[in-house]
Amino acid sequence: MDTTHGLSSARLASIGEAEAARFRAAHPRCAALATHSAPHYLFGLPMHWMRDWPAPVPLFVTEARGAELWCADGHRHADFCLGDTGAMFGHSPPPVAEALARQASRGLTAMLPADSLARVGARLAAIFGLPRWQVCLSASDANRFVLRWARAITGRRKVLVFDGCYHGTVDDTLVDRADDGRTLARASLLGQVHDLALGTVVVPFNDADAVERALAAGDVACVLTEPALTNCGLVPPAPGFLGAVQAACRRRGALLVLDETHTVSAGLGGCTRALGLAPDVVVVGKAIAGGVPCAVYGFTDDVAARMEAAKRAAPDGHSGIGTTLSASLLAMAALDANLEHVMTAQAHATMDALAATLERRLLDVLGAAGLPWSVTRLGARMELQFCPAPPRNAAEARAAMDERIERALHLYLLNRGFLVTPFHDMLLVSPATSERDVAALAQCVGGFIDEARA
Ligand code: PMP
Repeated sequence: MDTTHGLSSARLASIGEAEAARFRAAHPRCAALATHSAPHYLFGLPMHWMRDWPAPVPLFVTEARGAELWCADGHRHADFCLGDTGAMFGHSPPPVAEALARQASRGLTAMLPADSLARVGARLAAIFGLPRWQVCLSASDANRFVLRWARAITGRRKVLVFDGCYHGTVDDTLVDRADDGRTLARASLLGQVHDLALGTVVVPFNDADAVERALAAGDVACVLTEPALTNCGLVPPAPGFLGAVQAACRRRGALLVLDETHTVSAGLGGCTRALGLAPDVVVVGKAIAGGVPCAVYGFTDDVAARMEAAKRAAPDGHSGIGTTLSASLLAMAALDANLEHVMTAQAHATMDALAATLERRLLDVLGAAGLPWSVTRLGARMELQFCPAPPRNAAEARAAMDERIERALHLYLLNRGFLVTPFHDMLLVSPATSERDVAALAQCVGGFIDEARA
């Protein structure tokens, strides 16, 4: 029998077909909306990657609240995707919704600072342990701007990222590592014309020697990484790895930039705080303003002084950093409310406990099925991985992925009222997630495995 990671390939294929038919039958309204949208959008959708969901017709959303989401056909879904982290603290957290409603009639954008600025800055500093901040629209923008600052203040051309990384639509980071270590532009990129190898070095995650060797030439402006890779499955840092990277950066004059956009799931202050790290720059997007487009990056006083010097030394004109709607009155209102009332130690404690329950239940399911898979968890975020132990780098993570299992599993779950990210097998809990949904999800994963087992 043809098997994949302990499951039957034939059964996966037939589950996929049956679930697609079941989805179509249960979603006539979504299908009608898709038909009416099709003439007006590329691939019929407002963003082409929304096709990545496994459903044969898109799930059109009528409402999302807390950890629940309703589609146009009236079905309720327990949401374990949570907008791929944008809604990690739940959909429309009431304090953010109230702040937005208050601000809505008092100005949305003015290209001037909101009067909450000092309070927001103090809170960001207290949470992430870095004194100085900038606010922009998305984590992609934040990373793009940070790379520009890092090059400007070090006078160095290169940036170092890890194989398997994702930091948004930032050209320099959309690279792969060839077997011989060369930097390659990702084959999937559209309209790529610049040679990314000129400015980016890629090394394997958890390989401190490779980082040391890459920094030795003295031409790397910064190391940009997530504290744990979360975009090629979940790859936790080996003990001591991040400390070694931090020390190498200090020795070689490169900045350490931690992109905590996803890893804020680890707890208040992200991995930076949980692991006692001292990065030069921290980036946080997505959930930082409760789901309103907003991202922040924080840095040390030393880095701030060098940034101000670089800006003062440059001729007047465009810096290539910042966009018109960055730090808008609306985004600042959401950020203010989210930091004060939503992204709290209490919320993280609730999420961590719920996630630990889900992890335990999934491990029970895997144990009962005798499948050598793992559940890798980082606070509120976890990843079901088709390998016996968490991967140590992107190559191992890729080897443990299986699109056939993922697509069949995601659609199976969707048909039973559970929404999980379309990318790999990430599960995220919010403070609004219920114990009941956690138990039911684990049971449903068990049901899928029973049907698909070889
Ligand atoms: N950084 C990380 C670690 C991410 O995972 C992502 C998106 N998945 C981004 C940055 C980019 O976020 P956005 O698409 O909101 O710009």
